[in-house]
Amino acid sequence: MRAAMLHGPEDLRVEDVPEPVAGAGEVLVRVEAATTCGTDVKMWRRGHPILPPYPARFGHETAGVRLDTGERVLVGDSVACGACRACAAGRPQICRDPRWVLGGFAELIAAPEAALHAVPAGLDPAGAAMAEPLAAAVHAIARAPAGAIAPDAGVLGGGPMGQMLAALLVAEGRTVTLADRHAERRAQAAALGAMTAERLADHDVVFEAVGRPDAWRAAVEACTPGGCVVFVGGCKADEDAALPTRPLHYDELDLRGAFHHSPAEVDRALTALAAGAVDWRALAAGPIGLSDLPAALAERGGPARKWVVLTEGP
Ligand SMILES: [Zn+2]
Ligand SMILES: [Zn+2]
Repeated sequence: MRAAMLHGPEDLRVEDVPEPVAGAGEVLVRVEAATTCGTDVKMWRRGHPILPPYPARFGHETAGVRLDTGERVLVGDSVACGACRACAAGRPQICRDPRWVLGGFAELIAAPEAALHAVPAGLDPAGAAMAEPLAAAVHAIARAPAGAIAPDAGVLGGGPMGQMLAALLVAEGRTVTLADRHAERRAQAAALGAMTAERLADHDVVFEAVGRPDAWRAAVEACTPGGCVVFVGGCKADEDAALPTRPLHYDELDLRGAFHHSPAEVDRALTALAAGAVDWRALAAGPIGLSDLPAALAERGGPARKWVVLTEGP
């Protein structure tokens, strides 16, 4: 079968590789569509802690068909251990020993059955694949304390995650302002019903969806007294963010990290996509084939988009 294999930083090769073999608890899934994400860009550019040794398969937003039952599934990108303290506390997204499921940029993937989610009838494979990142947005919104998003929210960053956050908040009936310095990304947010700005100011809850220390600081500065900042964007591993102490103390700002998602949140994302509450087509670009992946991952700036990779074909 054909698969996109990472051989090193910026060394991606589409190769014929042996078909995967399903191990204990695993099933084979024929990939129908996989979508690209910022994490894929990081993996391609500089490697990533969760990548297996080179040559490594990647792609973690994957929808396809189970070979054993013919059922359409989203292949979730992780399975929590179920035994660590985080899992015991009902927080599988911060499991200390998760099994990551990578390899969507291939014709077949062997996936743990526990990672699979049924795709609602009528949802396109590319839309189903996007339930993975959308679930992270579902989780981020759930991380804000109940009542904090009342009714106004700011989203900092107009990439795919920022757009998904804005779309979900709009669907919930919130007043949303998305800030991004790129006009085309502001136009995308406006099209989904958000207000837009170049900078955020005075929001009861602020979702940071950039993943840079300066943006973390700007998110804190844009939060109203007593409000909450949810950090959705991950910075580089060695980066520190210097945050102003005054609002943290005197304004009792509530700062919360948001990482990944739970299986239930993936199902909620699938439901939202199938119901049309979030328009995945507004972010979809392509479709492209596996051999187009390097050019797609190298793209910088421009509108927020997720490339739909169809693994069969060129
Ligand atoms: Zn992703
Ligand atoms: Zn665990």
